[in-house]
Amino acid sequence: MNNICYPFANTPLGYEYDALEPFIDEKTMCLHHNRHLQAYIDQLNEILEKNPALQKRTLKDLLLNWCRLPGCVQIPIRNNAGGVYNHRFFFESMGAQRGKNDAPSGGLAEAINRQFGSFPHFKAELKKEALSVFGSGYAWLVMEQCCLKIVTTANQDTPLRYGVCPLLNLDVWEHAYYLKHYNVRAAYIDDWFQVVNWNKVEQRFYENAEAAWQL
Ligand code: MN
Repeated sequence: MNNICYPFANTPLGYEYDALEPFIDEKTMCLHHNRHLQAYIDQLNEILEKNPALQKRTLKDLLLNWCRLPGCVQIPIRNNAGGVYNHRFFFESMGAQRGKNDAPSGGLAEAINRQFGSFPHFKAELKKEALSVFGSGYAWLVMEQCCLKIVTTANQDTPLRYGVCPLLNLDVWEHAYYLKHYNVRAAYIDDWFQVVNWNKVEQRFYENAEAAWQL
């Protein structure tokens, strides 16, 4: 099972549920991975089970082309495939390397400085955008051609359809923080910055830059 197409499975996190303490609490991580992501995976598998013609399509392909799918599955696929993609991406964007890698370096650091002036200014911009999401959604750092950009998406939408390459996402659904931070999204965002796995973000940045150079 390659896990990029049906049947999807929930793979373990790359770290323990309590690895992000005290910034993101164990119970939130456990429920978020074990219940919320699991539910999206189960619902996506259920839809695809009833639609064998779609079973060989990859997760990304489903998300890029949901509006060309049969009408009755468009919205369920958009929501559930999005829920799987966004959560996998979000969990992989965090890690237990806290303190060792609390800021980007190399080419990504240079690109952030070029685009946003400085790393603290980038953080302030991302926080502002994440706070601006009304209701549920995500804030993203993406690459559009060779430029970095911050965008937001509602619900479980992804920015993939806009032809950009996602580098980092921040889940601002209340389930991502309510147990610890209650309704204070700003405090959650500050804590989340402490556990971003910048090595992973850099890896995505270089992979995308390499792909762009090969075009
Ligand atoms: Mn979530």
